[in-house]
This record gives sequence, C-alpha cells and structure tokens, in this order.
Amino acid sequence: MRLLEAVIDANHRALAGDPKAGLHPAEFEAELPLVALTCIDARLNSLLPQVLGVPSEQFVWLRNAGNTVTDPRSGSMRSLALACAVKGGKEIVIIGHTDCQVAKTTTTQLIDRLRALGVQRHLLPDNINEYFGIFSSERQNVIKAAEIVRSSPLIGPKIPVHGLLVDIQTGKVDWLVNGYQTVDTLSARWNEVVRSAGQTVDALKPLTDFNIGEMKFPETKIGEIVTKTQDWLKDKVQQLEIKPPVTPAAGQAPPPKIPLPPPIRPRILTRKGPRPR
Ligand SMILES: [Zn+2]
Repeated sequence: MRLLEAVIDANHRALAGDPKAGLHPAEFEAELPLVALTCIDARLNSLLPQVLGVPSEQFVWLRNAGNTVTDPRSGSMRSLALACAVKGGKEIVIIGHTDCQVAKTTTTQLIDRLRALGVQRHLLPDNINEYFGIFSSERQNVIKAAEIVRSSPLIGPKIPVHGLLVDIQTGKVDWLVNGYQTVDTLSARWNEVVRSAGQTVDALKPLTDFNIGEMKFPETKIGEIVTKTQDWLKDKVQQLEIKPPVTPAAGQAPPPKIPLPPPIRPRILTRKGPRPR
C-alpha cells in the first residue's frame, strides 16, 4: 500500500468507528515528508494533519486563500518546488475543503468587500477572477491546481501530485486526483524513450566512428545528424507531456459513501514502532 492509499484507508476506517484505524509512518519513510497546499481557512488548523494520520513534523504545510494554483511559475509553485528541493518533500497533495468561502464569494461581493476596506476598483487588476483565483467548485479547483502543479517545470516527474477534498465538518477525506497513476504512466513512457534513444545512438555510432577514423565526412553532415537527433529527442520528450487524469479512473474510484457518525474530529493514531505482527 502506498502512502496516500494508507492515508485514505485509515481516514475512512477511523470515520467508520474503527478504534484501531491508524497509519504507521515508519512504513512510509521513503514517501514522507508529505507536502500539502491547503486553504487559509482557520477551521483546518485543528483538522490537519491529524485526519490524515501523518505526523505533524512530516507534514510540510503551505497555505493560500482557496488552495489555488493559477500558474506553473506562480509564488505557490515556487514554494511547492522548494518544499521538495529544500525540505525533502516526496509527494505533493492539494487539499481542498468543503464550505470554502473563496468558492462562495462572487466577483461583485469581492469588489464590494474590498471597497469597504478602502480598496478602489480602478486599482485592482482587470482580470479579478483570474487574479484572485475565484472558483465555484471546490472539487474542480483541486483538480485544476493538481493539473497545473503536475505540468509545472519546477516539479520533477518522480513526485506524485495528488488532490484531496476534506469535509470541514467530519474530517472525511475524498481522493480526487491520484498522483501515482500519472507518475507510473510517465516513468513507463520515459523508459520507452530512453530505450529507443539508446538504440538510435547505437545506430548513429558507425557514422561518427567512420567520420573520426576517415576524416572524410563533411562537418555539416555531423551537424545535421546531431540536429536530427535533437529534433527526434525533442519530439519524444514532448510525447511525455501528459495531463493527469481529471477523474478517478476505473479501479481507483473513491470508496462507497460510508454512513457517517455525528460530526467528529477523528484522531488517527500515529504509531512510532512497526506494525505488531
Ligand atoms: Zn477555503
């Protein structure tokens, strides 16, 4: 079981009333710390990372209003990239939440509220919705953010980028974007490209050997070969660029709805030692 699979499993079991539900962080050393981008909503303060079962010292927590990522090179992207490169984050998760006030605020309301704070409309950017990352669907917003983070040149292809939605009342977590699927697809394609690139280099070798040995091959020819190889590689690399699945694929669908107990804040146990046998 991979980290996020175990997180979802522990969360759903805890909500179903299983007193033994828990995560064993020691089993996931290679997948922690977990880097999370969440909203600024203060109700999340007492919810995370407990409902995930991840120890707080292994939870690199980034926040912005609406857990929004608007651009692959934005300030949030910069922090996500450094969370991985400097703080050792192994996986990224965008965590949206239900009842998000950013989603409930219309452009007109936002302009009115800013005006009440003394901010004048003509000093605001023209593209207010785009600039503030206003959205109406919490789910779509998470999916979009995960897609932008996945496509960002600042995030290496081996870092899974997930999307979750947490119920602010119950702490139940839904898995919206499974980042493992994209990483698996990417690495499979990468291996394929590396393999065929190796074959091409082998095929070119006699030509370059001949040139070096005989000194009869005009230099321009070599340049042509190199350019063609670069074009071919560029073409192959472009084929690698894929988008993460926007909906959970078959077999990865979120588990069926569990009848939920009255609102609780599940505390998922964090055990230091290995799982008892
Ligand atoms: Zn929010």
